[in-house]
Amino acid sequence: MKKFDPATAIASLKHFGEFGDVNPSITDSSTFTFLGANTMEGTFHGETQGCFLYSRHWNPTNRMLSEALAAMEGTEAAWVTGSGMGAITTALLQLVNAGDHIVSSITTYGGTYAFLKNWLPKINVEVTFVNPTKLEDIEKAIRPNTKIIYTESISNPLLQISDIPEMAKIAKAHNVKLMVDNTFSPMILAPYRLGADVVVYSMTKFINGKNDCVAGAICADEAFINSLIDVNSGTAMLLGPVLDPLRSSSILKNLHTLHLRMRQHSKNAMYLAEKFTELGLRVSYPGLPSHQGHELLKTLMNPQFGFGGMIAIDVKTAEKANRLMEIMQQQGVGYLAVSLGYFKTLFSNSGKSTSSEVPEDIQAEMGMSPGLIRFSVGLDNDIEQTYEIILACMTELNMINS
Ligand code: PLP
Repeated sequence: MKKFDPATAIASLKHFGEFGDVNPSITDSSTFTFLGANTMEGTFHGETQGCFLYSRHWNPTNRMLSEALAAMEGTEAAWVTGSGMGAITTALLQLVNAGDHIVSSITTYGGTYAFLKNWLPKINVEVTFVNPTKLEDIEKAIRPNTKIIYTESISNPLLQISDIPEMAKIAKAHNVKLMVDNTFSPMILAPYRLGADVVVYSMTKFINGKNDCVAGAICADEAFINSLIDVNSGTAMLLGPVLDPLRSSSILKNLHTLHLRMRQHSKNAMYLAEKFTELGLRVSYPGLPSHQGHELLKTLMNPQFGFGGMIAIDVKTAEKANRLMEIMQQQGVGYLAVSLGYFKTLFSNSGKSTSSEVPEDIQAEMGMSPGLIRFSVGLDNDIEQTYEIILACMTELNMINS
């Protein structure tokens, strides 16, 4: 059987504009006319194909981007949102009712953790947090009212690898849905093809890759995507987190270079991870044989895109992390900024930034050191030169044992 190639799946789409434009036309209309009133009624009830009703529901430009994402993911359909959190919360809220229960990985993006921990109790949805690498803990946490197992394929910021096929088996056995956030590893992993039911993305990150907007996506089967936009009960239709079509159009263009960018991010990250290891630093990078999930990831990944652009190093204290990040920024390594998947290298101290919603005792329980620096390695053409600058910064701060 021919191997699935997400990049070719996207490139094979024949998308063109109204006048033969090589880029699809942008439909910047919130509403659409109907020649017949009956067709309008049918569209409202989801019974008419090919018609557009209102842009909070569907928009032709959003449809093009969604089709490309579905092709990349191997799903029947997708729907695009105004942020990654918009995708995560919409998909979760579609699947739970008051009184239900979710089993979630404890190592997720801080905003996701805060939503699960602090917001969902408002509607009486309980969440049990588990270590995503302990399959027996996931199974044990399932209750009769559990509706979702939630995880990140490569977790933020600890870079743990979820065994998606095994999690899918547990989910199926208990009739619950497996939802996977694949923000860190588009192209590298195809969670739906590995058994997930719903795949969510913050497109703000690698997929768009330009840090010029926030956006998100939900990829799943047609039935689930249609349920999201049902005019009577769809969470997307009723909470209204839709992405603006002007943005969809620019993200679609960027999606076409994602495969090249992922390879370069991965190549540069692997180089830095190996060099940091040689220096004797505590490094977490899934491409290193020393990484706990390395062998597992090798069995799950599409190997041509590498092991991803994210590295975590532990310099032990937040003070040291801050000093190193400030000097690296001054010396031009990249930016002291949250987010990831940008063409420049970004670094932040997770405990004090993107995971600051997670209380410090839980951070310690998760294994997140106060000195953890998360690097989103950029597309540098000369990563050896970048490394030399980082080395000089570390030497100046006496961080290297010579
Ligand atoms: N998922 C992951 C893994 C993230 O890192 C982030 C943001 O940092 C999000 C989701 C949320 O995405 P957004 O900022 O686009 O809402």
